[in-house]
Amino acid sequence: MSTVGVLALQGDVREHAAALERVGATATRVRRLAELEAVDALVIPGGESTTIDKLLRAFDLFEPLRSRIAEGMPVMGSCAGMIMLATDIIGAIEGQRSLGGIPMTVRRNAFGRQVDSAETELVWEPDGSIMHATFIRAPWVESWDPAVEVLATAAGPDGMRHPVAVRHRAAIATSFHPEIVAPGGTADDRVHRLLVDLIAS
Ligand code: GLN
Repeated sequence: MSTVGVLALQGDVREHAAALERVGATATRVRRLAELEAVDALVIPGGESTTIDKLLRAFDLFEPLRSRIAEGMPVMGSCAGMIMLATDIIGAIEGQRSLGGIPMTVRRNAFGRQVDSAETELVWEPDGSIMHATFIRAPWVESWDPAVEVLATAAGPDGMRHPVAVRHRAAIATSFHPEIVAPGGTADDRVHRLLVDLIAS
């Protein structure tokens, strides 16, 4: 059984851990170097990318995590986690850094700050099925390398569709929060399952 860490600096740590357990992984919290070294894969939850960047450095995790991602450790980032996995950020604050892993430029707060939270139905491109997605001050992918696979798109206030779920090698990023179960809805673990499947392959 695979051990998947959830970066436990900010965000929906418990919800991600629950989703990972549902798809058959052992979930652990990662806050220290020894904990990072013990996992086969990692989830970077949403929150505030500027804060996650600062906390990673404060916990001496930034460089070790950057290298593990560069070495190909499977990783999934949601929302602020997507921003952390981008090579370039539009709307970054001064000095803000990302970990990289996916050759793409993301736009922070792309759907507009006024759209604090929105739910929408997406087409999950890998199988053409519908996915219910929750967005919270979400980024989108503004530009990307041809090697990046687009897994889902959503319409922005500009009337254009933009990638909101992507994969590059063993790195997955979503603008939305796959760990959130809609009230009265059932859990949708496709994104977490994709991450766990990447460990095996
Ligand atoms: N707007 C946040 C950022 O720029 C991301 C929001 C989220 O993770 N829900 O980091």
